[in-house]
Amino acid sequence: MTRPRIATASLAGCFGCHMSFLDIDERLFELVRHVDFDRTPLTDIKAIGPCDVGLIEGGCANAENVEVLRAFRQQCKALVALGACAINGGIPAMRNQFSLQEILAESYLDGMGLDQGQIPNDPEIPLLLDKVYPIHEVVQVDHFLPGCPPSGDAIWTFLQELLSGQAIRLPYTQIHYD
Ligand code: SF4
Repeated sequence: MTRPRIATASLAGCFGCHMSFLDIDERLFELVRHVDFDRTPLTDIKAIGPCDVGLIEGGCANAENVEVLRAFRQQCKALVALGACAINGGIPAMRNQFSLQEILAESYLDGMGLDQGQIPNDPEIPLLLDKVYPIHEVVQVDHFLPGCPPSGDAIWTFLQELLSGQAIRLPYTQIHYD
């Protein structure tokens, strides 16, 4: 029997959701006995292949984020918005109240302490989008796991239930955030 394959990516996120994934601690050993990892910072594989589950941290802030997200959507049977930034843009989306022109000017031209600045235009730098988009506004998303970040326990419960084909039910203790 083939083992489920999991991929993960951080788009416009802080890697906190990936850190939380590692908080499943020693259960990682159990996980790797039952699944294979594809593209993820854990394996350092750069290109995604066919997968069963794709976990996406962060929203889309630039063109590269969109490209990665579309590749995940194409390759993953189930796509998961992992954490607040993927679900609603989170902290990076605070820039949405300003225009892109205002943001670039404040960051590179007119901001405090800047003198004769210039807006970087190296082709290696992904172009910023006009605002930060939650991932479900860019591709279809199958599951949403809220939290900033979702706890390691919530991620563990979620993966166990998803991979076993059960309806996903998180206990209240894993989905309250006060
Ligand atoms: Fe970081 Fe929170 Fe966003 Fe996850 S949801 S990427 S922990 S800010």
